[in-house]
Amino acid sequence: MCGVLGILGNFQLKMARDLLLLLTHRGQDAAGLLWSDENSFKTSKAMGNPGKIEVPEISPKHILGSTRYPTTGKRVVSSDDLDTFVGPFNSDDISMTHNGNITNMSSVSNIQVDCDSEFIAERLSIHLKANGGNLPDAFKKLEGEVDGSFSLTGLYQEKLFAYRDSHGFKPLVFGRTKKNTIVASESQVLDMAEVPLERDVYPGELLIFDQKGTMESHSISQNSTHSHCFFEYVYFAHPAAKMENQLVYDVRFRLGRALAHSFLKLNLEVPDYVVPVPDTSRPAAQAMAETLSVPMREIILKNRYLGRTFIAGSQEERNSMAKSKYIYLDDKISGKTILVVDDSIVRGTTAKMIITDLKKRGAAKVYFAATCPPQTHPCYYGIDIATDSELIACTTDINSIADFIGADALIYQEQHTVENAIGLKDLCLACLDGNYPTEHARKIRNNVSQHSSTTNQRDYERDFSQ
Ligand code: 5GP
Ligand code: MG
Repeated sequence: MCGVLGILGNFQLKMARDLLLLLTHRGQDAAGLLWSDENSFKTSKAMGNPGKIEVPEISPKHILGSTRYPTTGKRVVSSDDLDTFVGPFNSDDISMTHNGNITNMSSVSNIQVDCDSEFIAERLSIHLKANGGNLPDAFKKLEGEVDGSFSLTGLYQEKLFAYRDSHGFKPLVFGRTKKNTIVASESQVLDMAEVPLERDVYPGELLIFDQKGTMESHSISQNSTHSHCFFEYVYFAHPAAKMENQLVYDVRFRLGRALAHSFLKLNLEVPDYVVPVPDTSRPAAQAMAETLSVPMREIILKNRYLGRTFIAGSQEERNSMAKSKYIYLDDKISGKTILVVDDSIVRGTTAKMIITDLKKRGAAKVYFAATCPPQTHPCYYGIDIATDSELIACTTDINSIADFIGADALIYQEQHTVENAIGLKDLCLACLDGNYPTEHARKIRNNVSQHSSTTNQRDYERDFSQ
């Protein structure tokens, strides 16, 4: 699961679905809502985006919502998969939804579950049964046994709770009015609901809210340093989201400014235009254009009505989807030197396609800039790049990547400028430098280096005992 929402206090269910739409970019595989109705909970789930969830015209006291981006288990391919893979989940007397990725499910227990959100709900339920229903204590047990990232919200005994793992990998914010408490992955959700953002849930903090708006804060587990996922700022989050007191838009703008300085160091020909690959890189392209005193032109437009290309199963499928993803303003391309800016180069499919398309239309030169440094290691914490084979920078040096995508120059962000642009030192940069902040992830990495890969299974879903 990737986008989470929790609402306490009577709230229109249809409006909650609209709020969940603001988390669609965090997962378009499927989405779900859960709400209280008399003494039971009801759920409604749908494939694709949250707008497709069917809900009655009611205003329940409790609502949970999820958007799913698959980092464990398979993609949702039919409505039969919805109950299995899509949150929110109910386990006895606890309901919850989670964003993140658990890496050590099979070493914690042999309960058979299909996804890690369901796994967390099961583990909490087991601990609550054993300890007489003490939620803080159940979270202490959970922190002690699971490895990975987990920002979650849920319902227990009529109360809404929120928890963020002690590394703080994934974002989680909350706000309150007299009538409602809202917990969400990103702050623009609160904004739309006219609930003022109070703050981020702190790493290792459990919050429990009751119907009167009272909040209990429990410190469950403390880490001396945190590991906020830098890729949230670079790609994943909405530009309007505020996380750790940073507006994502501003971070992307600063990333663009830093990239412009790297471009200047190369003494290349001044481009005619800076062109963003829509949508994520727009603020960075704007900043590059301003810094270089070159106009920004949106000559690459996105075909909004196409599904995602990133999750396509095979390379042929990805190529053909990437081909129909962009539309070009042909008249502005011929004879021009163009500096294209994208947030990241993962497999290189998008960059190669765009450069080929621009050159086919007569571009004189195409420079390509990425606001993310080369991703040389897979992610085990919730971005679905979970094997070396999915990352071109894992096996290929920068000059060869430039050749592969056909760029006249390739400019990558540097790692230290990522830290400066985000304004935080305690970041998870594992996909850039291989420094995985958790023990089990390091073990997986070690296993990967000792076993040859014969499958395209995610590293953390492989069985290394054979
Ligand atoms: P590539 O085409 O190089 O494999 O991937 C790079 C493109 O995928 C970029 O345009 C970037 O915006 C996008 N991208 C990067 N990470 C993700 C992700 O986790 N999910 C999705 N849907 N797209 C991604
Ligand atoms: Mg993109």
